Amino acid sequence: MKNKILEEKNSLLKKADLLMETLPFMRRYTDKIVVIKIGGNAMGKKEYIQSFAEDIALLQLVGILPIVVHGGGPQIGEMLKKLKIESNFVDGLRVTDEATIDVVEMVLCGVTNKSIVSAISLAGALSVGISGKDGNLIKAKRLSILDKNSDSNVEKAVDLGFVGEPSSINVGVLNALISQKMIPVISPVGIGNNGETYNINADTAAGAIASAMKASRMIMLTDVVGVLDAKQELITELKISEAKNLIQNKIVLGGMIPKLKTCISSVEEGVEASVILDGRLPHALLIELFTEHGIGTLIKK
Ligand code: ADP
Ligand code: MG
Repeated sequence: MKNKILEEKNSLLKKADLLMETLPFMRRYTDKIVVIKIGGNAMGKKEYIQSFAEDIALLQLVGILPIVVHGGGPQIGEMLKKLKIESNFVDGLRVTDEATIDVVEMVLCGVTNKSIVSAISLAGALSVGISGKDGNLIKAKRLSILDKNSDSNVEKAVDLGFVGEPSSINVGVLNALISQKMIPVISPVGIGNNGETYNINADTAAGAIASAMKASRMIMLTDVVGVLDAKQELITELKISEAKNLIQNKIVLGGMIPKLKTCISSVEEGVEASVILDGRLPHALLIELFTEHGIGTLIKK
């Protein structure tokens, strides 16, 4: 009996120690803006979203100001398949015609956005889901890219349709929500000069928001442990120059290209550090922010 009480007491003391260990980290981020991007793949299962939402609610409770930006590529893909609308991809970007952009907006700003909002609400915090169109949050312009023909090596402009890039961010909308203790959950859809809808890569949207809001940190939750080197091993820390080399040497490919590029540009624009980590790991955000152990790839100056 005595032993059991002692055991219980020790376990409680350990818990208290653990809480105390997080104190310096909590203090470091109090009142600081942290932009968190959750990728479509890291939202693949309901339990990933719930664990993410609990972390977000806890961040807010300890005084951090989280802003969420979400993706939804796989979810858009599923709906297009159901509707029998076909897509082509250039450099990992979906060529987006008028029929496709409607589906993109419906999925991203509809079910995907609201599933995160309701998960955060279930976790006990208040959040408001908005798209880049609301309050002119993300003004966008058409993205133009050059594609290299692999045979002739000749570059030509590719028309991706309604794929855009942010041209300005209205921080007033976000500040209004944050000042009312509401967590913004943003779908990466932008509004053009003539009211047209643009599909924006969620990493790019998160980066533009992090820079405009002068965030302390930007965290990208994805479906790999972080940035992998040529031997497929995790790189725990990258300087800007090293990150640029990985892209140039084609060690980083596909969806990791906009992710790493965004981490580079936001750090260049004043975000203290950006992190790419595995969103499928339960409570990845808490481990990253509140312990000494970084678990993904940290990009800093
Ligand atoms: P998200 O939905 O999180 O934006 P993406 O599929 O767009 O995810 O980007 C992440 C993917 O990038 C990984 O699943 C992986 O297949 C790919 N990738 C390409 N090169 C690398 C690399 N060097 N390290 C890690 N992932 C890479
Ligand atoms: Mg992606």
